[in-house]
Amino acid sequence: MFKYTKFFSTKITPQREPIPGSGQTPNSAGGYAWPLDDWGRLDRFLVLGSEGGTFYAGERELTIENAEVVARCLAADGIRTIDRIVDISTTGRAPKNDPAIFSLAMAAKLGDEVTRRAAYAALPQVCRIGTHLMHFAEFAQGFGGWGRGMRKAVGAWFNGKRADDLALQLAKYQSRDGWSNRDLLRLAHPRAASPSHDRLFAWAVKGELAEGAAEDPSLALIVAMEELRKTDDLATAAKLIRDKRVPRECVATEWLKQPEIWDALLPAMPMTAMIRNLATMTRVGLFAMGSEALELVVSRLADRERLVKARVHPIAVLSALATYKSGRGARGQGTWVPVAKVLDALDAAFYACFGAVEPAGKRLLLALDVSGSMASGEVAGVPGLTPRVASAAMALVTAATERDHAFVAFTAAAGGYGGKWGGGVAGISAVSISPRQRLDDAVAEVAKLPMGGTDCALPMIWAKENRIDVDTFVVYTDNETWAGSVHPAQALRDYRNARGIPAKLVVVGMTSTGFSVADPSDAGMLDVVGFDTSTPPVIADFARA
Ligand code: CA
Repeated sequence: MFKYTKFFSTKITPQREPIPGSGQTPNSAGGYAWPLDDWGRLDRFLVLGSEGGTFYAGERELTIENAEVVARCLAADGIRTIDRIVDISTTGRAPKNDPAIFSLAMAAKLGDEVTRRAAYAALPQVCRIGTHLMHFAEFAQGFGGWGRGMRKAVGAWFNGKRADDLALQLAKYQSRDGWSNRDLLRLAHPRAASPSHDRLFAWAVKGELAEGAAEDPSLALIVAMEELRKTDDLATAAKLIRDKRVPRECVATEWLKQPEIWDALLPAMPMTAMIRNLATMTRVGLFAMGSEALELVVSRLADRERLVKARVHPIAVLSALATYKSGRGARGQGTWVPVAKVLDALDAAFYACFGAVEPAGKRLLLALDVSGSMASGEVAGVPGLTPRVASAAMALVTAATERDHAFVAFTAAAGGYGGKWGGGVAGISAVSISPRQRLDDAVAEVAKLPMGGTDCALPMIWAKENRIDVDTFVVYTDNETWAGSVHPAQALRDYRNARGIPAKLVVVGMTSTGFSVADPSDAGMLDVVGFDTSTPPVIADFARA
């Protein structure tokens, strides 16, 4: 008998060929995977962005590809696209708000009439602070000029804020990316919603305090800033900052060398600003032994509700932890001696940012793709945060909630025929990382593992060969699988048959590319977005069901 099925079968197909009849298309690595639909891709883009590109695509190419996805979504259903943008932006699921702002600008400038109107209506929800609005103006500029709709929406943004909140926005974010409040107000030219708004507009445009400003409680911050500018007495400055809740952005650089000033800034400091300034506060000596400021910072970092409410993204914490631990600033911000209490508090805060996750109580195999491509590019534009390192951190979140879990890291030979570096068995390494370790140590351990080709089927093949019972495989990957002799979906079905376990597969996509190794026609496989704060609960729910 000529073995026809040796060459053409739906059960065993090399990853360099599509599974017959499956609808697979080529990925960037020369393998085949399933194309993600545009809505799935929109989610990946909104969460992961395209900054830094991937191993296979530069950031230019990846950005164009994703912008085309946004355009197709807008053409298919503008309102659904905007709902998605608003949802991901307002729930703080993404490390950065820029992909949402960019997509909203596209909707506002390129959508049909209904879509444009909805996009402008959503402006205050997506652009919550002055910086966001300036980014929106910059992006919108790329798709056209200032039409009537744009002028109205930007004007409404300023008028829609309560006067005292607007004062804070105007003071804190005076200009960004070549845009200033002055530019925006001149172009939008709104009629002020109240006398207080009128005074604030005058201050932003002309830089002077209008009549009645000194007596207007909504302008208290602006008045305090003017007073702060005039004083050279440390105690007076600190008192002004503390009493009038002056933000750091409004304090002259010379003052920011004084611990007394930071001590005064701290009570009103927002969470993200606090996390970003831990190094500076350490350097100026605010956290000396027995300091109340240190206790305050540590207790805030331990406050889950506060972290979630402030939309602190775990990526921001992870990035702060890496920088803080290093003891030196990336852009010449000097050096400091990291305080252990702060490091531990950041470590705990990382997990707390994901909110409460109810464990599934199943047997989970957390499998990290440590192939070469995962070490390229950066997640959310954070220097040094490769998909490989990021996936380890992400997997630790699930490990922290699921008692019954094991970690493996997988890589095929560079040539794809087995063995870590060619020859020998395919590369599965047991990884001894644990959420009880500090995050930076765990991540460093994964960064050290050898790397080679990509075979996302390895976790299932390995578990079958070693008779390991797994209810849910969670594979963290860029989906650029190519090196295996069988597709991951086929390996999963084979595992199910061999072990008699209806095992599931969750594929956590770590880059904003357009494919997945999860078979969309198999209800036991799910594709989710890496570093989406909603991913750990989604994995738990899927594993539990
Ligand atoms: Ca790879």
